[in-house]
Amino acid sequence: MYQVLSGALAAYESSLAALEKRETPRLGPRQLAGWCRESVMVAHKLKQDMEQAGVHLPSESHRARVAELAAANGHFGAAFNAALTEPSKVGRVRIGLGRSASLEPSNVAALLVSEPDEQIRKRIYLAAGKSPSCNQRLLEEMVATRWELARVQSYPSYAALRMAGGSLARTPGAVVAFLEQLAVDVRPMAEQELLALRRLKAASSDPSAAAAATIHAWDVEYYAARARQQLITSPPSAVLRYTAVPSVLAGIRHLLWQVFRMEWRVSEAAPGEGWAPGVLRCDVEHPELGPLGVVYLDLEDRPGKYPTAVTFPITCGRELPPARGGGGRQLPVMALLASASGTCPTSGKPAMSYRELRVLLHELGHCCHNLLSRTKYQHLWGTRCAQDIVEVPSHLFEYFASDPRVMALLARDRSASPAGADGAPEDGEPLPAGLLKELVAGRSATAALELQQQLVLSLVDQWMFGEQPPGGPYAEVNPDVAIPEGTAARVSTTSDIWRQAVEVASSVPYVQGTSPELRVGHLTIYGGAYYSYVYARCLAAQLWRLTGLAEAPLDPVAGNLVRERLLGPGGSLEPLELLAGLAIGRAVGTSLGSTSDPAAAVAAAAAAAGAGPGAVAVAARQRRLEPWQVARLRQRGLDKALAPPAEGGFLQALQGGFAPRSEPYLDLIRGGCGGA
Ligand SMILES: [Zn+2]
Repeated sequence: MYQVLSGALAAYESSLAALEKRETPRLGPRQLAGWCRESVMVAHKLKQDMEQAGVHLPSESHRARVAELAAANGHFGAAFNAALTEPSKVGRVRIGLGRSASLEPSNVAALLVSEPDEQIRKRIYLAAGKSPSCNQRLLEEMVATRWELARVQSYPSYAALRMAGGSLARTPGAVVAFLEQLAVDVRPMAEQELLALRRLKAASSDPSAAAAATIHAWDVEYYAARARQQLITSPPSAVLRYTAVPSVLAGIRHLLWQVFRMEWRVSEAAPGEGWAPGVLRCDVEHPELGPLGVVYLDLEDRPGKYPTAVTFPITCGRELPPARGGGGRQLPVMALLASASGTCPTSGKPAMSYRELRVLLHELGHCCHNLLSRTKYQHLWGTRCAQDIVEVPSHLFEYFASDPRVMALLARDRSASPAGADGAPEDGEPLPAGLLKELVAGRSATAALELQQQLVLSLVDQWMFGEQPPGGPYAEVNPDVAIPEGTAARVSTTSDIWRQAVEVASSVPYVQGTSPELRVGHLTIYGGAYYSYVYARCLAAQLWRLTGLAEAPLDPVAGNLVRERLLGPGGSLEPLELLAGLAIGRAVGTSLGSTSDPAAAVAAAAAAAGAGPGAVAVAARQRRLEPWQVARLRQRGLDKALAPPAEGGFLQALQGGFAPRSEPYLDLIRGGCGGA
């Protein structure tokens, strides 16, 4: 299969090259017409997937080794994360007076937020920082395995392997440079926040010790929670009056109709259709695109339910071949799991905290990405796109939760309205503006410190799976790859890497003797790709403004731009091209937004790119652009995306790759709206 695929791709590409040189291509016109843009992409993706399993390597022993390494790599994550939930492996810590506490991550997190005694918090933090000790060996083996896996395949590092083939970042160098710069930029704000926490600590302890109050790693969460409490004076139940699940769902229906012209019809799943009682079925339609798919909503809390909010694709969307089903589309099906842990005091129905509502919007972003994706192949459908783009729509949707105009739809007390919870957008009483202000401010109280934490994790992830991994020196396995300067000589541990990342990115000092990396399950899953979350936050902050949603979050023109340029293409465009396309789409703004006809959109974009009226008419008629026009459009979009921020640019070229600009996100943190 690999050889046939490689041969077919090579024949296609050499034929294209021949046509460009006006020579006779290897493939005839009919064979060439069999390839489209998406099929070329899918072929490259499949080829690359096979190569990551070593199929292309010349020697049998190399192939066998890669297969062995790839299999081992698949096991570390499960073992590492299983240890974190295994009480006997994480252990317990004595916290005085005959009491002890489990070191399970959720328990540790809860205690670090709520335990008022600093000595107990310290004891918990120190003990958790050495547990589970079995993960040390697993992590080292995982690092060594991934390093070898990358080197055998001639990649300089595992991080580079993960970024190869369709990421925005392209090189680990770009990512690290971006993270280090962002660390410098956010530090003054983080120090301001730390000062506020220090004041809180001083005020709560012995006044004579006030001057010496230092915020240690075990203090951050405790005093961050106190800082939030100071800002949110209303009781937690105040919001629940407005967030009963039926009312939130009615709000979502209004929101998605206004912004994307999506019609959500919610009903109870038929007996035997859902996996638990209370699962809802939403059939989604668009007036022009027709049926879009089905989302199953599982919002009721129950014992044994999957512990975090998530969207599971069940069936991917794609075009059906003309022979089957008359050339329509295979409609996607997915499951959205989220939580509503409170109770609405007026209706008695399950209700969502502000955080749960934001999480629901995040997952809804993933669902809409999938529902509105119009790719030919399921391999490129919706969220099956580049790792550093996939979280952008979901982060964009989170911004809906800080906008009073959107929250006036989502959070209303509809219990007394005549039409019930399903009524009109204006039914019932909206969440008071003052309460929303409190909630947004509370969420942003330590946004800069929280970003620092994300930067630490992202840097640890890059360095752990970079060119100089901890636990070396390793014997070079591939004579074709140049050994980077200093690799063989370098000996470091995983906690050295953590300490270095803390020194670069955090205002809260590293605690000697701890190894927090033993508890970061994300290292196993995201190996080399964790930076994607920071990329997504920065990109979403920019796109929120750039698409016009910040100004008018319910505007269908902005919604159309997001649908056509961000969600629709799924993985069928390279990330850089996708973002360049958004820049162009915004430049042609209303003319693009006024129609969902692709030919008219193409014509409008061509006009904006300066193509003559004749060319535009031809493009509109043929429903496609000439290659030179595409190249020109692409260049124009790229120029816009890479322009200085004052001219609307939102990307930067860095070390052979690309990164978002971070100024708009930092502005949001500064303005008290950057919480995550
Ligand atoms: Zn997500």
